[in-house]
Amino acid sequence: MSTFASLEEALKHFFGYDTFRPGQKKIIEAALHNKDLLTIMPTGGGKSLCFQLPALLRNGITIVVSPLIALMQDQVDALQDNGINATYLNSTLEYDERRSRQIAILKNQIKLLYVAPERLLNERFGLFLEQVATKVGISAIAIDEAHCVSEWGHDFRPEYSKLKLLRQRYPQIPLQALTATATKRVQQDIIQQLNLRSPDIHVASFDRSNIYYEIQPKDRHIYPKLLRAIRAESGAGIVYCLSRKSVEDVAKRLRCDGIKALPYHAGLSDRERSSNQTSFLRDDIQVIVATIAFGMGINKPDVRFVFHYDLPRSLENFYQESGRAGRDGEPSKSILYFSLGDRNKIEFLIKQKPEQNEQKIALQQLRQVIDYAEGNDCRRKIILRYFGERYRGNCGQCDNCLNPKPIEDWTVEAQKFLSCVARCQEKFGLNHIVDVLIGSRKQKIYQYGHHLLSTYGIGNGRTADEWKMLGRSLIHQGYVGQTTDGYPILKLNKRSWEIFRDQLPVKIAVDKNKTKTTTTYNPHKAEAELLFEKLRKLRKQIADHNSLAPYMIFADSSLKLMAQIRPKTLADFANLSGVNEYKAQQYGDSFISAIREFNEKNKLPVSLPSKSQLATLQLHQQGLSVVEIAEERGFAVSTISSHLSELIEMNQPVSLNQLVTADKQQVIIKTIEQVGDITLKTIKDKLGNDYSYDEIKLVRGWWRSQR
Ligand code: ADP
Ligand code: ZN
Repeated sequence: MSTFASLEEALKHFFGYDTFRPGQKKIIEAALHNKDLLTIMPTGGGKSLCFQLPALLRNGITIVVSPLIALMQDQVDALQDNGINATYLNSTLEYDERRSRQIAILKNQIKLLYVAPERLLNERFGLFLEQVATKVGISAIAIDEAHCVSEWGHDFRPEYSKLKLLRQRYPQIPLQALTATATKRVQQDIIQQLNLRSPDIHVASFDRSNIYYEIQPKDRHIYPKLLRAIRAESGAGIVYCLSRKSVEDVAKRLRCDGIKALPYHAGLSDRERSSNQTSFLRDDIQVIVATIAFGMGINKPDVRFVFHYDLPRSLENFYQESGRAGRDGEPSKSILYFSLGDRNKIEFLIKQKPEQNEQKIALQQLRQVIDYAEGNDCRRKIILRYFGERYRGNCGQCDNCLNPKPIEDWTVEAQKFLSCVARCQEKFGLNHIVDVLIGSRKQKIYQYGHHLLSTYGIGNGRTADEWKMLGRSLIHQGYVGQTTDGYPILKLNKRSWEIFRDQLPVKIAVDKNKTKTTTTYNPHKAEAELLFEKLRKLRKQIADHNSLAPYMIFADSSLKLMAQIRPKTLADFANLSGVNEYKAQQYGDSFISAIREFNEKNKLPVSLPSKSQLATLQLHQQGLSVVEIAEERGFAVSTISSHLSELIEMNQPVSLNQLVTADKQQVIIKTIEQVGDITLKTIKDKLGNDYSYDEIKLVRGWWRSQR
């Protein structure tokens, strides 16, 4: 029945994509030959397409078994938005609705039907399916999340075990099982349970090449670090925490700092959970702060970052959770914040487990995560080795590859450091010890008479940062103790003394590139980013209007292409990857006019930023606050906010929301509309002391840019 010259052409026609993801084409070809299939791909690998495209190219209907109602609805919505006839039948539907869907199916108007496993095998539904089989034909049955049939998997579902009956009842219909679970035991089980007939097994690599991996040391200043990392992102993200309490805390602090964030954990009511989840899917909020309760069934493809605020319990958990970033294949980020304190906390919890064996397994899993976090090898290599894959060379997409850390012998330095801890009578923390070593002139040093110590200033051959790096590494390696109640104080231990006695050499990974990397600023790129933001807003409006999640309208990658290529005609628009004919008809006009408007506005003679303004812009984009930028650059705070307001006026990508709260912006804008924008003082007089000159200046910049 296929009228396409190639599978690629069909892919473009139905889904708008130009190329297949690794493995997809082979699987689809095998499906078209009516083979039984077992497909193993990591989350985000693109499994759905492997049964969806064959379904569209064959006569009859394909039945898709899916465990979660929410997932089902999501996939069907996305398909319908591509102009594809898909539907689902489940218990949430009213009788009339169910009936009319069944009629459409029998009239051969539907290509994909999603059902839950329990329904598929009940008697009434069996009768209906028989009618379907004779009237329109069933081309295949796809079983999504197939690991649910196996008791060996991490998500066994009793209703899935009944799927054994499928083969008996429909011996002629090809079965296609799909999962993201890697273990061999579960794979064997799936084949056996479902009675697959010499299936084609496709195991895709577990490498998620679009995800960048990084570890950040976690210390007392962890929250500002997290905040900064989030501010540097413009897309959506997940922050995972270990406990409900820390989920609530972090979500609240982020909201106070102007980030749209909501919590998600098992302690919330069903209603709250589902409403927070919907807000996240629809981009009404940027960040969801969650326990591991959040995940299964979250199909949002444009999650740009997953940050682990606490240490995950196993590498498998970590990989599943971080894997929720970047399912759309666009560059995404995973950061794990790691501290030894977390390790101790989890170890303590594990030791509470009654069963010896359980304890042993849990401790081993913990060691593997720590190995990942402390490792100096390519992070990808460490993870893939765990999944039984070998990754050769450096990935260039993790902190260790980008900043390879040579191992050096720092025994002498360690001896100096530790003797300084001893001289200070084991009563001070890392920063103070470093101050003494480098001979700092801080008040606190004189106050304690530490300028008189023999170790005062003996470390001036190295920088404060280097001494801190050594100190942290000594703590990590257990060569010096650190108190955990209240302010952390360094304490010597057995190993410290071995180091003094030259019995234990100290090797540390030396981070040579500690100095900040400065990215070069590219004005053209900034423009594309601005347009991208504008198109994102438009996408959000359209999505809200249609009660859809934004990613269902267009993927981030398609918006980026629009921003770069700036199509002027519908034909050019339809050519973009991720856009098919149907979507071009639906949304093309709106996006093309938005692009045209942007082009016209940007043709106006705008003044270009100065070098100094650009330097400020760069730091702003790295997430630094105005005060931090002023410190970094050695300027007055008011100078920096002038830079920023001028940049805003020049339409440069400054995030005003990061600088002034939305509420304040509104009040300031109202006032400007009343009294004019000529002098700041007039505006300030009207507003009073709750508003600073800097805030007014910034908002005025924005107001002027809008004229
Ligand atoms: P999985 O079920 O394996 O986790 P999905 O089937 O949900 O992954 O696909 C993840 C994302 O990748 C979806 O947004 C999907 O539209 C997109 N995708 C799938 N195949 C392609 C392709 N060939 N080109 C571009 N994007 C694709
Ligand atoms: Zn790497």
